[in-house]
Amino acid sequence: MSVHTDRSSVTVLGLGPMGRALAGAFLDAGLRTTVWNRTPGRDTDLVARGAVPAASPEEAVAAAPLTVVCVVNYDASDAVLRQDAVTTALKGRTVVNLSADTPERSRDTAAWAGRHGVRYLDGAIMTPTTTIGTDAGVFLHSGPEELYREHRPVLDALGGSHTHLGEDIGRAAAYDIALLDIFWTSMAGYAHALAVARAEGVTAEELAPFAGGIAAILPPLFTQFAADADAGTYSGEVNPVTSAVSTMAHVVHASEGHGIDASVMRVIEGQARRVIALGHGADAFTRLAEVLARR
Ligand code: NDP
Repeated sequence: MSVHTDRSSVTVLGLGPMGRALAGAFLDAGLRTTVWNRTPGRDTDLVARGAVPAASPEEAVAAAPLTVVCVVNYDASDAVLRQDAVTTALKGRTVVNLSADTPERSRDTAAWAGRHGVRYLDGAIMTPTTTIGTDAGVFLHSGPEELYREHRPVLDALGGSHTHLGEDIGRAAAYDIALLDIFWTSMAGYAHALAVARAEGVTAEELAPFAGGIAAILPPLFTQFAADADAGTYSGEVNPVTSAVSTMAHVVHASEGHGIDASVMRVIEGQARRVIALGHGADAFTRLAEVLARR
């Protein structure tokens, strides 16, 4: 069997919570799974389940045609992959980098891979460790389609949905950044809401069902606003910024009345007021997407 056609083995570099989940799913799917982590000892459970521990990253990558890297960021993946011995061992083999970072770092890594004869795919994981190996996992991929198709059978062992977003190697990271933007600004709002609610004697558990209701409003809004945003209309018929901005001010006043920092909501309110000042008060709040990009 050639190194490229062997679909029964895989290597995982990086055994943080996500790397361990990935390796565990490969093992559950019956693949010969070689593992390595910078700090020793993270592989104990995996080895007990049948994983092959590698003494070095070069030994690990030499054990399979496909290496999945999942470390904290691309400084970390560079620190592993760009060691001379590892780069040499990777020649002619494929790396799928599932670590999170920016599109620019993905493109830089692809350029490095190209210079060294390493076949390279980029990717992003959009769901928590508990979803790995289940139908709920969401994996985004970008890079050469032929390479993606070749390794898809092994990647499928991770379960969930796999979407190839195109040949532009930075595209998975571009989606990742946009989606993380939604996630973390939402979580900042949630953490702030907990503080304000607590100051008013409302517990997190009391708020939870209604917080869920607010979150559920968002998916249909994303769908509804998408075509409108792409067309650049930002229609505010239902809820113009002039109306929305007053509810933002309520959050600021109520928070600061309790001595709770409202700086995030102050920034949002300021952005909404800028949209209005620029003559777009009748538009939807999403007009901000266009205003933010103005120089
Ligand atoms: P971390 O993001 O904390 O990454 C930990 C891993 O990175 C460990 O294997 C650690 O090795 C390694 N690492 C850090 N610095 C270096 C370095 N300089 N050289 C070599 N290895 C290094 O934990 P996760 O496993 O959770 O995340 C891995 C990736 O998956 C991240 O990019 C994260 O954003 C992404 N992800 C994680 C999700 C989650 O729910 N956890 C969800 C979706 C994506 P060591 O043990 O030696 O410190």
